[in-house]
Amino acid sequence: MSLLNDFISLIYPRLCLACEASLYKHEKCICAACKYNLPKTNFHLEVENPVSKLFWGKAPIYSATAYYHFSKGGKVQHLIHQLKYKGKSEVGITIGNFIGSDLAKAPLFDTVDYIVPVPLHKKRMKTRGYNQSEMIGIGISENMKAQLDTEVLYRTFASETQTKKSRYRRWENVKEIFAVRNTEKFENKHILLIDDVITTGATIEACVNMLINIKGIKVSIACLAYA
Ligand SMILES: [Zn+2]
Repeated sequence: MSLLNDFISLIYPRLCLACEASLYKHEKCICAACKYNLPKTNFHLEVENPVSKLFWGKAPIYSATAYYHFSKGGKVQHLIHQLKYKGKSEVGITIGNFIGSDLAKAPLFDTVDYIVPVPLHKKRMKTRGYNQSEMIGIGISENMKAQLDTEVLYRTFASETQTKKSRYRRWENVKEIFAVRNTEKFENKHILLIDDVITTGATIEACVNMLINIKGIKVSIACLAYA
């Protein structure tokens, strides 16, 4: 089988999804050079950082980070494009592995009990086939002593079509779209919310504001990139 795989990779070399160089056998989907050179933020080492500051006065969070800096036309954007629009779910798992091994060593994150991806719209789930945030979460959970949970936090249906609403009302709608169930599971637990790219933080804020009603809960945030 391994010989056959070697033969196949000779004809169709597996390429790095960030720079398109051929991958060595032990490399998953991002080459060692890209892994080393992608613009890490190291926000997970600081209590106060640009991501945690997004939530000041809006939502009570324990700690927050985004793993990479996002720049237009950069490799991180290219990777996110592969993850969201090219069916490359393995990008999420691989980067999730990187994030997980760093967070497992970070005092602000090493007490996390559950990894919770931001739930995806059912329609999007149908077209994409997977929730990209869940892929990142799976990768993170593989390298942390924390379990993935996709049951407690979920999306509810919006009653009116969002297109009919004004910009402000549309934001309000996002706020109402998440809900929680079987909440006793998260009582007195540390939850790590996962999303792909964080910009204004409105989606995460909506999730946090549902979760913080649970008794004794602590909510932290980890995103793949900060734009
Ligand atoms: Zn590369």
